[in-house]
Formats: sequence, structure tokens, C-alpha cells
Amino acid sequence: MAVLPVFRWRLAPDGYATRRQLRARGLRPGGQCVAAQLERPRRRRGPLVAYLYRIDQARPVRPMTPGRWRAHAAMMRARRTCPRCRTDAGYCIPRSLGTCVPCADSGQQHAA
Ligand SMILES: [Zn+2]
Repeated sequence: MAVLPVFRWRLAPDGYATRRQLRARGLRPGGQCVAAQLERPRRRRGPLVAYLYRIDQARPVRPMTPGRWRAHAAMMRARRTCPRCRTDAGYCIPRSLGTCVPCADSGQQHAA
């Protein structure tokens, strides 16, 4: 595997962008491999690394199709559905609780 060029933080050359910077331009890496990496030295820890992609090889973000909206809606519904009472809580089930709030509350009452 080829060694990636490493640039100092803030010294990235033109034509490279992080995934987040691509996203801000409405682009995505588009299957290209990481082209370079940025390293920011940190004290007592390994350097903070950011991966860079070539802007000229980036592709536009795929537009949302009806199928993709359906998949997105199903994912969001799954995140709102309480695994215990199987109802749509109307909000994302908090990971700290693992259930909707009423279920978590009743669980605590039973335990007490
Ligand atoms: Zn519930």
C-alpha cells in the first residue's frame, strides 16, 4: 500500500478537502481512496488525524430519491419506536434509557 502524503494542520494543499469540507460543497468522496492526511500534533497523545480527498475526483451528493426517502423514514421510525412497548414515541429513544420514557419510569417504579 502506498504511503499517504502527510500535511501539517492548516497547510493542506489546494485541491484537497476533508469529507466534511466536501459535504459543505455538496460533494462526496465518490469511491476514491483517501488521498492524503493531515496531522495535528497533540501533547502526550497520538496526533489528531484528518483524511483528505481530492476535490477533482469528488462527485456530487446523490439526490434523495423516493426510495432513499422511504429508507430514511423507516430508519427514523425505528429509532423512535420503543423496543419494550413497540409504540412510536414521537422522539428518538434515548440510548441511555433504551426504552421510551414511560417504560423507563415504570421500570424504575417496579424496581423500587
Ligand atoms: Zn415504551
